[in-house]
Amino acid sequence: MDSKWTNADIEELKSQDAFRGINDDISLSVYCTRLIGGDPNLVLHGGGNTSVKTVQEDLFGNEIEVLCIKGSGWDMAEILPAGLPPVKLDPLRQLKSLESLCDEDMVSYIRSNLLDSTSPTPSVETLSHAFLPHKFINHSHASAILSVTNQPNGEHLCRELFDDSMGIVPYMMPGFGLAKKTSEVFEENPGVDGLILLNHGIFTFSDDAEASYQHMIDAISTVEKRLLGGNKHVFSSATTPSRLQPLSSVAPIVRGVLISQDERIGTGTNAPQNKLILDFRTTDQILEFVNGKEIERYSQRGVATPDHVIRTKNWPLVLPLPEKPETRDFRERTEQATKEFQQKYDSYFQRQVESRNLQKTRLDSTPKVVLVPGHGLFGVGRDRNEAIIAADIAESSVQTITNAESIGEYETLDEADVFDVEYWSLEQAKLSKASTQPLLGNVVAITGGGGTIGMAIANEFDKLGAEIAVLDLNFPEEDHRFLQLECDVTNQTSVKSAFENICEHFGGVDIVISNAGAMHLGSMENVSDETLRESFEINFFAHQTVMQKSVEVLKLQNVGGNLLFNVSKQAVNPGADAGPYGLPKAATLALMRQYAIETGKYGIRANAVNADRIQSGLLTKEMIRSRAEARGVNEVEYLAGNILGKEVTAEDVAKAFTQLALSESTVANVTTVDGGNIAAALR
Ligand code: ZN
Repeated sequence: MDSKWTNADIEELKSQDAFRGINDDISLSVYCTRLIGGDPNLVLHGGGNTSVKTVQEDLFGNEIEVLCIKGSGWDMAEILPAGLPPVKLDPLRQLKSLESLCDEDMVSYIRSNLLDSTSPTPSVETLSHAFLPHKFINHSHASAILSVTNQPNGEHLCRELFDDSMGIVPYMMPGFGLAKKTSEVFEENPGVDGLILLNHGIFTFSDDAEASYQHMIDAISTVEKRLLGGNKHVFSSATTPSRLQPLSSVAPIVRGVLISQDERIGTGTNAPQNKLILDFRTTDQILEFVNGKEIERYSQRGVATPDHVIRTKNWPLVLPLPEKPETRDFRERTEQATKEFQQKYDSYFQRQVESRNLQKTRLDSTPKVVLVPGHGLFGVGRDRNEAIIAADIAESSVQTITNAESIGEYETLDEADVFDVEYWSLEQAKLSKASTQPLLGNVVAITGGGGTIGMAIANEFDKLGAEIAVLDLNFPEEDHRFLQLECDVTNQTSVKSAFENICEHFGGVDIVISNAGAMHLGSMENVSDETLRESFEINFFAHQTVMQKSVEVLKLQNVGGNLLFNVSKQAVNPGADAGPYGLPKAATLALMRQYAIETGKYGIRANAVNADRIQSGLLTKEMIRSRAEARGVNEVEYLAGNILGKEVTAEDVAKAFTQLALSESTVANVTTVDGGNIAAALR
């Protein structure tokens, strides 16, 4: 591993606004924190922290020694000085004289010694930093280090690798006890450059910022050199069949099974509509791992460092090989494997609380990582962010375990140690508060998502917590909130590939809004056959293509779904010269009703929105102008030519779609959004 230290970058950083009035010690520490936090081989999602000891003035102008230590909630890769809140150092050091200190008292005491009481809570590893004398201290859960310490002879291996340059600290849960232990090990040999924490990670330190960082790089390079001498081919592969089910059908089956067996969905903890998101990963290394003959052994040993447990649980769910063509068989075996996983989790919990007489509430038993032989792995989350975190950690664990097995055998802590961290209140605090958004974990696909109405629909569903894919021929601008997919809805291959993409990206789909359309005008006596057929392609057949594909995915998931159609006022109230547009829309209204009666038995609801006179891609400014002229009114009067006498917006249409998605007992309904037009009222 190479050092990324660059003095020019430090100068650049110091010149930024956020660093005005910040002393050099803190600027250096921020720089170092970003270097370490920005490398996924060193730090993943909260798995590390840094500190610097420096001097700051209090309100009276007195200089006091402080420890600036990473505050919770800050991403190390993007940390600012405010992410390293100062804590008075002397009171922290005094704690060393205590025999013991409970977590709650420790956190309260640390908080009460913050210079700024509004700062984020300092890391749970604050005291380890405070009890060591060095100015700059770095801590990480680097994958390479975990590969050598998670071995039956991990301690011996570390001593052999590092000689006297690193102290070795036996595993202890983070907190006061570990802080005392780290300082004890350090004092036995004050010449060390750092400490290896068995089954946990590494500390490196120095009074010089660059040296402290370099010690981390050196230690990891030492391990990497050892790993290079290991086996190249680690896992002998089980025979893989020539015909695998594609990922785009495997993902919805897995997602559907997990949702249907999730105990929090529909129990009141979450809104009944809440679902789960999957994030898929595959690389050569992941494939070798999931295809290994002994997957049941090495994948079930436990997490590489205990703080992973809150994101991934202690083991992943291992699924059977999804062989073609037995889709049904794969679903049944996935259900069986999931049930067994949940039972295993439940008995682990019961075993721990009963044997130690603990008062704890069991967390949900849904797997957070799923290994699929032949394909790769899924991270599972209540939203996409959670799924990505689980997948990132799973991917890193694959690397850790592969490296560990290349030089020996991967072995981890006892489940009791992992349980302590999983059910530790300070660890649970790292998880974001459970969201109560009504469509959390739902995947929404919107065709015509690049247009005015499509974008408004995407925004409304986004507000309700859903994950969103927008499909269109092109998009006016990039929007990173959404998965933007180029798709021609009149082309079956294009639609098929868009849905495959959605399934691979989110695990499946729940709500499909067939919104794309195009206005074709002309009198029936004069319209060309070509124009009429063109209109039917986009305004009828495209809806059928999109919904047929959607139902295929929804049936694989088997947890219901929503089909929402954008029809038009023309479908019920024809306007002169609008026949080429209205006819296919009338057929689409009938299509919605047809889907409603045919898919209801799968819990799939079909509904439509009937909108009129919305300024959008379909009804352009020029069209509004010419129609207004034809009626002898101005453009505003034309748009507001309804019972309410007000202009109807794309947001109004979008809200009708979210409303239908949330109305769990509504089927074959047409919601009219036109400000009132009695001639177009449905009866
Ligand atoms: Zn740690």
